[in-house]
Amino acid sequence: MLEANSIDIFKKIGLRATPQRLEIYNILKLKEGHPAAEDIYEQVRQHFPSISLDTIYRTLSLFERHGVIKKVHHLADKTRYDTNLKHHHHFVCVRCKKIIDLTWEAVDAVPMPEGIRKWGTVEERYVELRGICNDCLKKETHR
Ligand SMILES: [Zn+2]
Ligand SMILES: [Zn+2]
Repeated sequence: MLEANSIDIFKKIGLRATPQRLEIYNILKLKEGHPAAEDIYEQVRQHFPSISLDTIYRTLSLFERHGVIKKVHHLADKTRYDTNLKHHHHFVCVRCKKIIDLTWEAVDAVPMPEGIRKWGTVEERYVELRGICNDCLKKETHR
């Protein structure tokens, strides 16, 4: 089902749906926490042992140019990728670097600061929360 879905997405943007591209896209879509290129590489290699990290990078930037994914920058970490193109905010775990999507209507509804025109026009309102995720908290209490 997921594969069919992905093929449709590729068709819509006019990209040829090669098995490698589909694999990369599906991993992006299914892997939680907004994976980095290196994480995707480790997984794609299980099915395509000859693929290079460079190919992963090129495919990711191709996806990005076509608006299939978004780059997420945070902390001083590697570039991470997001397949969720709907408006959302992020919770970033400072321990395991996982990024969790969240919606936050109260924040979206807060009026813009006065004098906003001085800086320019706003295209997106985005909040990044940093903390320790429940998985990491659990590990800590079990120690
Ligand atoms: Zn964590
Ligand atoms: Zn996200």
